[in-house]
Amino acid sequence: MDNQQFETKAIRTQTARSPHGEHAAPIYTTSSFVFEDAEDARAQFANEKEGDIYTRYSNPNNNELVEKLCAMEGTEDGFATASGMAAMFTSLAAFVGQGDHVLASRSLFGSTHQILTQILPKWGVSHTYVDVSTPIEEWEQHIRPETKMIFVETPSNPALDILDLEALAQLANKHGIILNVDNCFATPYLQNPAKLGAHIVTHSATKYMDGQGRTIAGVILGKAELIEKVRFFGRHTGPALSPFNGWIISKSLETLAIRMERHCANALDLAQTLESHEEINWVKYPHLPSHPQYELAKKQMKLGGGIVSFEIKGGVERGRRFLDALQMLSLTANLGDSRSIATHPASTTHSKLSPEERLNVGITDGLIRISCGLEHIQDIMADILQAIEVSAEVQA
Ligand SMILES: *Cc1c(COP(=O)(O)O)cnc(C)c1O
Repeated sequence: MDNQQFETKAIRTQTARSPHGEHAAPIYTTSSFVFEDAEDARAQFANEKEGDIYTRYSNPNNNELVEKLCAMEGTEDGFATASGMAAMFTSLAAFVGQGDHVLASRSLFGSTHQILTQILPKWGVSHTYVDVSTPIEEWEQHIRPETKMIFVETPSNPALDILDLEALAQLANKHGIILNVDNCFATPYLQNPAKLGAHIVTHSATKYMDGQGRTIAGVILGKAELIEKVRFFGRHTGPALSPFNGWIISKSLETLAIRMERHCANALDLAQTLESHEEINWVKYPHLPSHPQYELAKKQMKLGGGIVSFEIKGGVERGRRFLDALQMLSLTANLGDSRSIATHPASTTHSKLSPEERLNVGITDGLIRISCGLEHIQDIMADILQAIEVSAEVQA
């Protein structure tokens, strides 16, 4: 198995066949599992023998998902959760407590920001944010004796800034702290933080892993001794993934590689076209040579990802008119779907921040984020180009 390619592991990692000899894995919708006898029950509870006891602890569908993702990310062990946020919270809460400190990049998913600023402080855990533009050498001055974790996302949402994971891992190792990377935007197909030195890799599996906007799921992957702590916390606090959702995500991973190839090809094509459009101020895409961290993005990511950000001329109002003019693209709070999605962060997800706070995370008033789907690129492009045109006309 170990020498198989990524695509093969994604397809051939499968839970053991039942006596029925099914080809595709069945869904194990059971709350608990039966012990062979009293001694078996005692040994499993004593952790002397491996086995599934109760679905809050483990389940064949979730075990398959975790084993598969470990093979795809290059990690030793993992724990599947009911949502991406359950993964983010569990991966923090399992390691920090009263008096501890987390160093994080400022550009984080909205709910992760709420955990760090509103929830963990209630339990005496503080944090410091560093702008993504800060050189890694300068992150070191914010590390304190009580710093337990560095938490980052790369590429960042929605500005698509790139952080140097190898440099961050060196910094974390020097200080004996955990580097936790939310790898949702890149997926294991484009970027493997653990291979660059990250100790924990977290995902919202809701996005590209599902890939069709059907379900919510998350996963925490990493070194075995760290996942031991995550598993203890997860088993007793109950963020377990439903086996049905675990089955959906595991089946979807069989096509992750080919889907990401197309998502990325469509996104690159769109980014290149928009870059020369006169109604667009700038386009941000990790694998466009105009991206400020193009070299790093090329080194760290196999392809540029499925998300394109650009600034349309005319600020907040033009951004809103652009969304209203779209005919095919969906206006919805998701990404990584087979259907293309447009969002305008300044008037929606980030509207509660001040304009200055928005600029700190790279969000200008006219910024539009496109999650490039799997429709034909000509149709995606045609809808965006006509919306640019229609939204400009109203302005005159
Ligand atoms: C969506 C998302 C999350 C949260 O995941 P859910 O599955 O919605 O709970 C966390 N991080 C990033 C980067 C995301 O895009």
